[in-house]
Amino acid sequence: MEENVHNVTTTLTCDAHSSWQQFLDYVRGRCSQTAFENWLAPITVVETASQEICLSVPNIFVKAYLLDNYKQELALFFPLDTQGELAITFVIGQPKERVAVVAPARPSPTQQVAEEDLEFQLKLNQFYSFDNFIEGPSNQFVKSAALGIAAKPSRSYNPLFIHGGVGLGKTHLLHAIGHYIKQHHKKLRIQCITTEGFINDLVDCLRNKSVDKMKRFYRSLDVLLVDDIQFLQNRLNFEEEFCNTFESLINQNKQIVITSDKPPGQLKLSERIVARMEWGLVAHVGAPDLETRVAILQHKAEQKGLVLPNHVAFFIAENIYANVRQLEGAINRLTAHCRLLDQQITEELAEKTLSELFQLVPKQKVSVEHILKAVASVFQVRVNDLRGTCRTKDIALARQVAMYLAKELINDSLIMIGAAFGKTHSTILHACKTIENKIKNEESLRRQIALCRRSIGN
Ligand code: ADP
Ligand code: MG
Repeated sequence: MEENVHNVTTTLTCDAHSSWQQFLDYVRGRCSQTAFENWLAPITVVETASQEICLSVPNIFVKAYLLDNYKQELALFFPLDTQGELAITFVIGQPKERVAVVAPARPSPTQQVAEEDLEFQLKLNQFYSFDNFIEGPSNQFVKSAALGIAAKPSRSYNPLFIHGGVGLGKTHLLHAIGHYIKQHHKKLRIQCITTEGFINDLVDCLRNKSVDKMKRFYRSLDVLLVDDIQFLQNRLNFEEEFCNTFESLINQNKQIVITSDKPPGQLKLSERIVARMEWGLVAHVGAPDLETRVAILQHKAEQKGLVLPNHVAFFIAENIYANVRQLEGAINRLTAHCRLLDQQITEELAEKTLSELFQLVPKQKVSVEHILKAVASVFQVRVNDLRGTCRTKDIALARQVAMYLAKELINDSLIMIGAAFGKTHSTILHACKTIENKIKNEESLRRQIALCRRSIGN
């Protein structure tokens, strides 16, 4: 088992930047702010072509501090070698960034283009494949569109415009298209860039007077994948160059895929480019529903070698629902905890470890009415029953849950809350105590209450 976990970690941590970020997030809450700023913040990840992790430290003291104090924690986020030692190398001082190479671009006919290929290498996150993308009602359409494009570039929809909120898989799908095309259409020249990357390249090229080279490179592509086009807003000079590149490619029937946090019509960009982006297919990626979130959690847990009982996955998915990145964060934290403390995963452990990530209901806006409605629907009773005096077991329990939630969610005195239920404050207090005791042992009740909270939150 232990062996297995290490292996999984080894393959997972190749995305050194995100592992380092996760490590920082993990230790941030466990050391003083000053220690963090002085010792950990100055460390950066150096990109290398190989699988090993390389950290840049300003001096040997920082390296020694890191290894002396955080060896165990580092082992949670970074690969170990066959001897069980951390597979991390260090460079001292400010290194020149080396660039990660996913694969060499296709050899091109002229020396000139080959040189340019070296400069604009294709970088894709190796984990963002179609296989690793969990499908559900909120993303089925966009995934099929992406697969369609990947299978037949320039012969289905062009451009494909993917939009949706943060952390819902837009970049993942974009890179998945990239991987697929690289594998199945080896001859096609493909580039994947963030809009910021495009702008930065352009700035560099302007400075080096090599804009022509960049133009030549981009306009010779067969497939251009552009991430986060919203960053082109308010960048007037760059918008024009981007628009020219875009039109030049589209006019040669070259495939373009764009992602954005909003639909084309809501972007503050020129009408010309908005119209161009609406030409093809505009596909929305939404927040995943409960079942999909559970499937995502299980998939990520499996990749980490973490055994996640299904009811705990449901519990987490009920409490984290806006964003897939947070689901990943939850799995990373749980993995770290379970390995450090050598504990089994239970709902309690999940609640304790993840409570900051859970999306809590804002206190002020909730009314007794909201609560009664939510409780009635989760417990399958009528609101009138909850207001009434009937003492059958199911109704009495649901009524107590409503009172318990009212005390938790409404910022008011027990007397006022009691009045809203037509009860005394001691009845409310008794209900709260009863429920508090029950949920210590009854997972299903805890889950029902979590559902109520969520439905109140919506
Ligand atoms: P966006 O670009 O929309 O902000 P990302 O593509 O960066 O979001 O996704 C955030 C994280 O969540 C990534 O690590 C990605 O792999 C993961 N993710 C998002 N959607 C899914 C999904 N449907 N299945 C598996 N992982 C997903
Ligand atoms: Mg993204």
